[in-house]
Amino acid sequence: MAQQYDVIIAGGGLAGLTLSVQVKKMNPKAKVLVIEMRENSAPVAAHKVGESTVELATHYFREVLGLKDYLEEFELPKHGLRFFFNNGHKEEISNRVELGPRLKLPAPSHQLDRGTFENFLANHTQELGTEIVFGARVKDINFSEDGHGVICNHGGEEKRFTGRWVVDATSRFSLIKRKLGFEKSAPHNVNAVWYRLKGVIDIDEWSDKMEWKTFLAPRLRYLSTVHFMDTGYWVWVIPLGSKNTSIGIVADDDIHPFNTVNTYEKAVEWMHKHEPLCASKICPPKEELMDFRVLKHFAHNSGRIYSSERWAVTGDAGAFLDPFYSPGSDFISLNNTWLSDLITRDLSGEDIKVRAEIYDRTHLAWFESWLPIYQDKYKLMGNTQIMVFKIFWDWAIYWSVPCLLFTNKGFTDLKVLKELFVSEKSLGKKFGLLNKRVQDLFLQWLPYENKIFSNRYIDPVDLDYLKAFQVGIEKQYNTNSLLAKVAENIGLLEHIAAELFRRISHEVKGTPLDIKVNPYTISLTEEVDTTSENALSRKPEIINDVAKMWFYESLVPEKEVS
Ligand SMILES: Cc1cc2nc3c(=O)[nH]c(=O)nc-3n(C[C@H](O)[C@H](O)[C@H](O)COP(=O)(O)OP(=O)(O)OC[C@H]3O[C@@H](n4cnc5c(N)ncnc54)[C@H](O)[C@@H]3O)c2cc1C
Repeated sequence: MAQQYDVIIAGGGLAGLTLSVQVKKMNPKAKVLVIEMRENSAPVAAHKVGESTVELATHYFREVLGLKDYLEEFELPKHGLRFFFNNGHKEEISNRVELGPRLKLPAPSHQLDRGTFENFLANHTQELGTEIVFGARVKDINFSEDGHGVICNHGGEEKRFTGRWVVDATSRFSLIKRKLGFEKSAPHNVNAVWYRLKGVIDIDEWSDKMEWKTFLAPRLRYLSTVHFMDTGYWVWVIPLGSKNTSIGIVADDDIHPFNTVNTYEKAVEWMHKHEPLCASKICPPKEELMDFRVLKHFAHNSGRIYSSERWAVTGDAGAFLDPFYSPGSDFISLNNTWLSDLITRDLSGEDIKVRAEIYDRTHLAWFESWLPIYQDKYKLMGNTQIMVFKIFWDWAIYWSVPCLLFTNKGFTDLKVLKELFVSEKSLGKKFGLLNKRVQDLFLQWLPYENKIFSNRYIDPVDLDYLKAFQVGIEKQYNTNSLLAKVAENIGLLEHIAAELFRRISHEVKGTPLDIKVNPYTISLTEEVDTTSENALSRKPEIINDVAKMWFYESLVPEKEVS
C-alpha cells in the first residue's frame, strides 16, 4: 500500500532540501518526503558546484530558512566577487586591473562547501520532521487528482509513494520536464569544467609586491570569489570552509571549444596558454585532485515551473542560465519561495489557480529578462573598460530591483506582481527593456574599444549609487512604499543608463557629453531620442560615479562636477 504525503520532493540536493525546510517551517504539520538517489552522506568539498552565494540567496538561507547561525559557524563569510582582467601577459597578478570590494560589504554572503551544507540541510530538515529516503532513484510519476504516485527503485525493490504535491528537484535528470514534454533549450552555449584541490589557496601569496599584497586586509582576497578573465572565458577560485579550494573554467564554446578543456590534461594545457600564473599555482599533478568534472552546454530553460494541479519543478530541474555572478541559488530561492507559498495556500484550502499561473509566468519572464546579461557577453570578457561598465551595471540592476523585492516578500505579493509585470507600461517591462538596451550597447561598443589597461584597482562601493543600492537591500517597506522605491530605483537606473551612453557615444561617435538622452532608445546603431520629453538631462552625482569607472584620462576631469 502506497504511503500518503502532503509533499513529495524527488531529489535531495540544494533545491530539494531547502524547499523541504521552507515548507516545514511554514507548515510544521505537513508530511514531507524527500527521495534522494545518493546512498550516504555527501563528501566534503568534492560534491557539487554552487559554492558561492550572492545577496538574494544569502538572505534566503540566513533569514527565510533561519540558517544564519549555521552559516556563520560552519561556512566561510564571502568577501564579494572579485575580477582580474587581461593585462596582456597575465604572468604577474599585481598589475592586472582588479575589481572588487576593498572593505567589508554592507550585505553579507557566504562561500559554501556543498557537501557540508547538504549534510547539514538533510539533518536539519529531518529534525523539523521531514522524512528522507536515501539510496532511492525516482523512476516515474503518475499524475492524478487523488494524489500523484511516485515510483522509485530502492535497493533493488520498487517502492511507491503518493503525494498531494510532487516536486521535481532532480536537477538535470528533470523527470517531470521530460515526462510532460516541456523541456526548452536556452540560447547560450557555454561549458564548464571544475575540480577541487586539497588545502587553502590564498592569492595574496601570488605576488611579492608588498603594496599589492597589503592593499586589502589579510585574507580578504582569499574570501572573495575570484574570477580571472579574458575573451570568451573566466576561471574561478573559491575557498571552502573545509579548507579546500574549488577551481573552474567556464568558457563560450564558440571561442574556447569544449574539447580544449574537457579532460584535466587539456584543461592544464589550456590554463598554460591563457592563464599562465594560474597554471603554475592551481594545476597540480592529476593524482592530487579531489575530483574533476565537466558540464557541456549547461544553460537550459523550461516551458513550465508551477501547476495548480499540484506539481512543480525547482532548481536545475527547471531552468538554469549561467554561473557568472553566482546566481544559481538566487533562482532556487525565488523558485522555492513561490512554490512554498503555493503549497502553504493549497494545504490551507485556498484555490491557487490564479497564483500558480502568475508565479509561473513571472518566473519564466524573469528568466527571459535575465538572459541578455549573459547571452553573447563572453566575447566582452577580454575588454576591461566594457566589463567594468557591465559588471557595475549588472550589480546595480540586481541590487536595486530583485534583491529589494525578495527581501520585502514582493515576489509573493499579487499587488506588487501586477504593478510590476501586467501592463505593457509596467515597471517590470520597463526594467527588462532598459536592461536589454544597455546590454546591447555593450555589444555595439566592442568593435571600438580594445585598449589593455593595467595597474588599477576599482571598488564598487566607491560609486555612491552602487553603495546605496547594496545598503538598501535589507530595508523593509510596505507594499505601496516598496513599489515607490522600485520605481525610484528604476528612475535612477534610467539616469545611469543615459550617462553610460553619453560616455560611450562621445568616445565612439564624438557626440557631445551634455546631450539629453531617452534611455529607452540608447544605441550606437539606431537613432537616439535626444529631444523628446522622455530625454533625460545629466545628474551631477551620476556623472561623478560614471567618471570613476571611466579609464581614459581625457574624460577624468569630469570629477569636478558638483
Ligand atoms: C559551472 C557551474 C558553477 C556554478 N556555480 C554556482 C555558484 O557559485 N553559486 C550558485 O549559487 N550556483 C552555482 N551554480 C548553480 C548551482 O550549481 C545549481 O543551481 C544548484 O546546484 C542546483 O541545485 P539542485 O538542487 O537543483 O541540483 P543538485 O544539487 O544537483 O541536486 C539534485 C539532486 O537530485 C538527486 N537525483 C537526481 N536524479 C534523481 C532521481 N531520479 N531520484 C532521486 N534523486 C535524484 C541527485 O542525487 C542530487 O542530489 C553553478 C552551476 C554550474 C554549472
